[in-house]
Amino acid sequence: MTSHFDLLVVGSGVAGLSAALELNPSMRVCVVTKANVTTSTTQWAQGGVAAVVSGEDSFADHIADTLAAGVGLCNADAVNVLVTEGPQRVAELAARGAQFDLDSKGKFELAREGGHRWPRVIHAGGSATGAEIERALVMAMQHRVEEVFDFSMASELLVENGRCVGVVVIGKDQSRREITANNVLLATGGACQIYSVTTNPTLATGDGMAAALRAGAVVADCEFVQFHPTALYSQREPRPLMTEALRGHGAVLRTINGDRFVDEMLPRDVVSRAITAQMQNDQSAHCWLDATTLNDFEHRFPNLFSILQNEGISPDKDWIPVAPAAHYFCGGIATDLNGATSLPGLWAAGEVACTGVHGANRLASNSLLEGMVFGSRVAHAINANLSATETGALADVHKTSRKLSLSDFWSNHSTSSISKIDPSRLSDVRRAIQETMTQNAAVIRSAESLQTALDQLNDLATDQDSAGANDSLAGYEVENLLLCAAAVLVSAHSRTESRGAHWRADWPETNPQMAERTALLP
Ligand SMILES: Cc1cc2nc3c(=O)[nH]c(=O)nc-3n(C[C@H](O)[C@H](O)[C@H](O)COP(=O)(O)OP(=O)(O)OC[C@H]3O[C@@H](n4cnc5c(N)ncnc54)[C@H](O)[C@@H]3O)c2cc1C
Repeated sequence: MTSHFDLLVVGSGVAGLSAALELNPSMRVCVVTKANVTTSTTQWAQGGVAAVVSGEDSFADHIADTLAAGVGLCNADAVNVLVTEGPQRVAELAARGAQFDLDSKGKFELAREGGHRWPRVIHAGGSATGAEIERALVMAMQHRVEEVFDFSMASELLVENGRCVGVVVIGKDQSRREITANNVLLATGGACQIYSVTTNPTLATGDGMAAALRAGAVVADCEFVQFHPTALYSQREPRPLMTEALRGHGAVLRTINGDRFVDEMLPRDVVSRAITAQMQNDQSAHCWLDATTLNDFEHRFPNLFSILQNEGISPDKDWIPVAPAAHYFCGGIATDLNGATSLPGLWAAGEVACTGVHGANRLASNSLLEGMVFGSRVAHAINANLSATETGALADVHKTSRKLSLSDFWSNHSTSSISKIDPSRLSDVRRAIQETMTQNAAVIRSAESLQTALDQLNDLATDQDSAGANDSLAGYEVENLLLCAAAVLVSAHSRTESRGAHWRADWPETNPQMAERTALLP
């Protein structure tokens, strides 16, 4: 047992570190993180951070664009907080040392991305924004965080008398320890590793969401998994992303035969569906991204240039093969406007959370912003000793008529504890989950495809229960993937309409009666 903290932050991406840095200096804070402290999806972010910083732009316009992308499911108060507090958080980050790209007048250079009516995306190193943000936050953290437990996986939440009081941590050597705290923040990022075709790093296995579900916290909107339209089509896993900013600068999409077929600046869900339909029509595995007309690709997007060079592609003369890939988990642990969850003592921020800002589909470059804004709000709420409020997605899940239970799906499997996984089969099971999700629950789904995937997951879960106990790090990851995949399938199956990132071939219309959160309990 180690010392007791005021705040235990799980995750060292933008959300977790934004919280740690804003905690009252008299309070004790530690960070638990699964790999090296800089390893995160944040570090991989390319395009940038959306924020209203130019005179032609306005809060009203950024709010309107975010609400439009979310197709009737955003929580308007959460969007208002995101947009109005965003510019200040970006300014603080710059003051902490993040070096964003500037124009000749010394102002932020702004890019335009799909779904944004103005150029409002602040970036660094061309398309290496996340790496610069992570660098600045990790530097700042070193003077503030008392202890960093790196290469340590938070596997379970400790709950006593209905309150979260800490976490169980598995070390690199598979040792287990308990770390206790008055407040636990889950900032563990997304879960897109449930898919075989994804842009997410291998650590994005939905650990925080799964642990929260096991502890009884409410999770929401899991059917809305955003697919990025333009991941590089290659044998590499995860698939390298070709940032939206390329299209913002004039790159165009072409069918396998070279024809233009879609307005590249539409929101991601629309472009991903258009590409998927086109690929099905042409029976092709990818379409083309033509960036040959872009000036100075090599210097403007140096990281992408080097990825492409390694694949033998010269973007100034070759078209780039691209296809949609699972990219962002819009749902997550339901929180109020301060990041409080339904479990006292437990907070969530960043991609693991469902604050309500993304609704049915996230607007490009709003997620780094969400991590900064809501991570920081968690700290301010703890500083002020606040409890959960009836606001944001947490209020929505209490009101919704769409309440589901995972236990209806897990006929032979307990959601409340780690399953017994045969260690020799872990990587096969992981692969089987990812493949069935990509085949049956990606950009376009149907009742039939979702049921196929549910049956396969149930078989995998049942199989595992017959083997010996396995609570290793890899075992937890597979269990968490199973739980998060099931959460997506159960939620997607019950939403008999198409909306945003959730598209049902058998229910292609949007049903105004279903403009409600999907609340999921264990
Ligand atoms: C290729 C790519 C490009 C992107 N580009 C952009 C962009 O330009 N703009 C934008 O807004 N968004 C972008 N995104 C999305 C954005 O990067 C993420 O949504 C955001 O960084 C998530 O931040 P986070 O702090 O919530 O989580 P992360 O940055 O993912 O951090 C999660 C942290 O939790 C740790 N962790 C996970 N599980 C455990 C566990 N069990 N125990 C201990 N630690 C754990 C991880 O090690 C990590 O430190 C992009 C995503 C990808 C994949």
